Amino acid sequence: MTLIEEILQTNEKFCANPPADYSGEDLHDSKLPKKKLAIVTCMDTRLVNFLEPALGLTRGDVKVIKNAGNCITGVFDSTIRSLLVCIYELGVQEIIVIGHHECGMAKTTSESLTKAMLSRGISADAVRMIQKDLNEWADEFKHPEENVRDAVAKIKTNPLIPKDVKVHGLMFHPRSGKLELIVKDEI
Ligand code: ZN
Repeated sequence: MTLIEEILQTNEKFCANPPADYSGEDLHDSKLPKKKLAIVTCMDTRLVNFLEPALGLTRGDVKVIKNAGNCITGVFDSTIRSLLVCIYELGVQEIIVIGHHECGMAKTTSESLTKAMLSRGISADAVRMIQKDLNEWADEFKHPEENVRDAVAKIKTNPLIPKDVKVHGLMFHPRSGKLELIVKDEI
């Protein structure tokens, strides 16, 4: 059985017999995050089903936006777009950027990605097309904690984000589950 077939089969069983707390009526009624909170974090595999319980957050509480290395790459990048929807459409009043120790983005470079893409048959022209953005994104990420501070500052100073939205920064350990406060917004 292929992976996608396995997933579909599991889903059939899941829908036939969903866990009790997955069919709560209040969740059917609202897409608004109960905690009025959005989290920007990394796509790291170890955070799946681990980060939220470690923060005491559950289904319906929070909007979670993930990308490689919880990076903000521009004033209207994909993460900012999602945050704008969170704030202006979904009632979010507080944002937490959560980086993590042992983040793979600290080792990823424009050179390593370029080499890998070319070796998989991607054309040099296609790589050239994104080279500047690729360098600015992949080579700027040196240290996960520094990156959290940078992301918090970019959100906080973004001209599209209202000043009364709190933006905090945390670091998370993907093995112990320990959180560390890096930037606390006192407004
Ligand atoms: Zn990561």
